[in-house]
Amino acid sequence: MFDKILIANRGEIALRILRAAKELGIATVAVHSTADADAMHVKLADESVCIGPPPARDSYLNIPALLAACEITGADAVHPGYGFLSENAAFADILAEHNIGFIGPKAEHIRIMGDKIEAKRTARSLGIPCVPGSDGGITNDEEALKVANDIGFPVLVKAASGGGGRGMKVALTAADLSDALATARTEAKAAFGDDAVYLEKYLSTPRHIEIQILGDGLGNAIHLGERDCSLQRRHQKVLEESPSPALNDEQREEIGEICAAAMRKLGYSGAGTIEFLYEDGKFYFIEMNTRIQVEHPVTEMVTGLDLVNEQIKIASGSPLTIRQSDVILRGHAIECRINAEDPATFRPSPGRIAYYHAPGGLGVRVDSAVYQGYTIPPYYDSLVGKLIVHGRNRTEAMMRLRRALDEFIVDGIETTIPLFRTLVRNADIQNGDYDIHWLEHFLERGGMGQG
Ligand code: ADP
Repeated sequence: MFDKILIANRGEIALRILRAAKELGIATVAVHSTADADAMHVKLADESVCIGPPPARDSYLNIPALLAACEITGADAVHPGYGFLSENAAFADILAEHNIGFIGPKAEHIRIMGDKIEAKRTARSLGIPCVPGSDGGITNDEEALKVANDIGFPVLVKAASGGGGRGMKVALTAADLSDALATARTEAKAAFGDDAVYLEKYLSTPRHIEIQILGDGLGNAIHLGERDCSLQRRHQKVLEESPSPALNDEQREEIGEICAAAMRKLGYSGAGTIEFLYEDGKFYFIEMNTRIQVEHPVTEMVTGLDLVNEQIKIASGSPLTIRQSDVILRGHAIECRINAEDPATFRPSPGRIAYYHAPGGLGVRVDSAVYQGYTIPPYYDSLVGKLIVHGRNRTEAMMRLRRALDEFIVDGIETTIPLFRTLVRNADIQNGDYDIHWLEHFLERGGMGQG
């Protein structure tokens, strides 16, 4: 087992990792930019190291500074969290060269899944159902038109290096295709330095359903059920729940086992998420995330397992101790991502938190790194916390969410809490009757009373 873990992240996930390490009796090292000297993860870690100025490229993405911090503190492993360096295969390689453990999968698997064209090819070869589309990258307009005519319009142009919904463009008809290709390429080049794109059938009313898996790279892999992340704005998840209101036990078992079997075949090691779109009873693979995800707590609430604890044990070389038959899904969990943003315009709202009161009580969990008097810096993403509730069934979870949201007070900045208060009172949400476009349509119709 590791003796000391350096947490190469900030915010709520840094705190989440710190908690898991402490419960395993492992010492922790926080790193921070100069803008984060007052951050909660810095206060709670056993040691901390300042690794650079506010911009992420100079601090949280600064590999030499992170290596130096490991050297200075004697950390023998790094947990990258999500975002930043979590899916950077070169970082995993460099740590290995320095005999420092990387709490994540093998670099080769990060590499495969980081290229979406390669990821789809691999998924297909492992027996995972995929969205119909081009076999590889699209090099010119004629080729695109041929593929699009084969799979049928509308089609989606996607960036091979895509992430966060960028570099994605819909072509409704053949007339739109050339423009969609050009825009997607330009956007992809600007965002990822890679203009490779591919084509996929555009599914009109799917749900986003993802399977959480754990593998040990020693021949064992299990699944921990699904999360439904269909409530999205600009392809970014807003609310997640488990189980999905759209699946029954049989469907869950079937797709879960397909994923677990694929991970056994791949020799995957660590936590991972296989993301699907789900329409008319069918699953279509879109990508795999080779890291812990923001929404992992909903899975923890229904399984009772600590996913970060499992990640740490697996990375230290331990075989999985949980068998598939040990995984029992209990009740229902829902997570709201609370952002420091105006709830109607989604404009970021950094600043000082004048008053803070988090909800509590049975079945309520708040994963956050903010506190009263804390100033949210303007340099990083706007997620300030996650409210997760668990109930014996979906109705109980919904009622609990409603009362927990009513208790939550964050004054001094704008947050998306009022958006969630409106959503939990909406009949479609209460009935679980929503797809990936539901939220955008709701907001366009002026669901928040403005705009
Ligand atoms: P990213 O890595 O940029 O997040 P994903 O491939 O995970 O990209 O897709 C993000 C979101 O975009 C999905 O959750 C879904 O809302 C939408 N999307 C992706 N592929 C398709 C598709 N083929 N048809 C319709 N919507 C899609």
